[in-house]
Amino acid sequence: MLILFAAPALWPDYRTILPQALAEAGITAQIVTETATPAAVDYIIYAPSAPLQDFTPYTACKAVLSLWAGVERIVGNATLTQPLTRMVDPGLTEGMVEWVVGHALRHHLGMDRHIVNPAHIWDPTCPPLARQRPVAMLGVGALGLAAARALQALNFPVTGWSRTPKTIQGLPCLSGPEGLREALSTAAIVVTLLPRTPETENLLNAQTLGYLPKGAFLLNPGRGPLIDDQALLAALDSGQVAHATLDVFRVEPLPKDHPFWSHPQVTVTPHIAADTRPHSAARVLVENIRRAQTREPLLHLVDRSLGY
Ligand code: NAP
Repeated sequence: MLILFAAPALWPDYRTILPQALAEAGITAQIVTETATPAAVDYIIYAPSAPLQDFTPYTACKAVLSLWAGVERIVGNATLTQPLTRMVDPGLTEGMVEWVVGHALRHHLGMDRHIVNPAHIWDPTCPPLARQRPVAMLGVGALGLAAARALQALNFPVTGWSRTPKTIQGLPCLSGPEGLREALSTAAIVVTLLPRTPETENLLNAQTLGYLPKGAFLLNPGRGPLIDDQALLAALDSGQVAHATLDVFRVEPLPKDHPFWSHPQVTVTPHIAADTRPHSAARVLVENIRRAQTREPLLHLVDRSLGY
């Protein structure tokens, strides 16, 4: 078996771990970072920043395995006709849960007032309990559902929203445009864990931000284009949105002169909400290779018509 690890910058992280994970699964394979015989490649492990853009010569390739959860930069590649999987990695999920819970608690508890308090103001106002702070979780896939469960464990009342209607034990879920309106209209905190697709672009715009109760908090660890930047700035200036904590942007790195950097009610984190963790991710990659070899259905297969 020949595996092309087509993400050269990440190879040092996987050089030892990936062969170990293959060996543990009883799979014998040669892993290369480049090849003169593309027709001999069985699997491609891929990141969108990789130089490889033309998949046509990889005629025997059984699957392309993305190292990233978001595949919007890959799905449009017309030469990629092989089955494509996205990354669902327990380590990545754990990181996302920590980011969402941490930033939700910051706003919920009003931590900023006490961490930065140069005037030494003694304000004994107690925050409400989490159970009094409803959360709208836009996207209840691998990451959104895990974040929703963690917030529920702290008593936040969470409502999920997704493309397709869902019945999830203990988590009220809505879908469609009316569902979005309903989820947002009671939300004190909104979290966007949606993929970037033509349908999700500018989902949070002047109209939908207007559904929120005044003073809501927004956390966006999903993708920058989910939000209309100008509409968000207007909502922040009017007090409709009290604070936005943003991890992802239309242009990354966020340009130095972008108003988000200087806006007092915006926190910018530099796309660090969740990273693929090689140790756990290697096992996920190997499990999919094992499945492909035994003709079992692949995990986390991307639906190209939906774009995620
Ligand atoms: P996922 O498992 O595919 O879940 C996506 C969720 O979004 C699903 O609930 C899906 O609905 C919903 N959705 C998709 N299109 C929609 C639409 N048009 N309207 C309403 N809901 C829609 O994805 P995931 O693994 O949770 O990842 C989510 C996103 O997080 C990724 O695509 C990526 O953009 C982002 N991400 C960010 C970081 C970071 O560091 N900031 C790291 C990893 C991932 P259905 O359930 O009905 O299909």
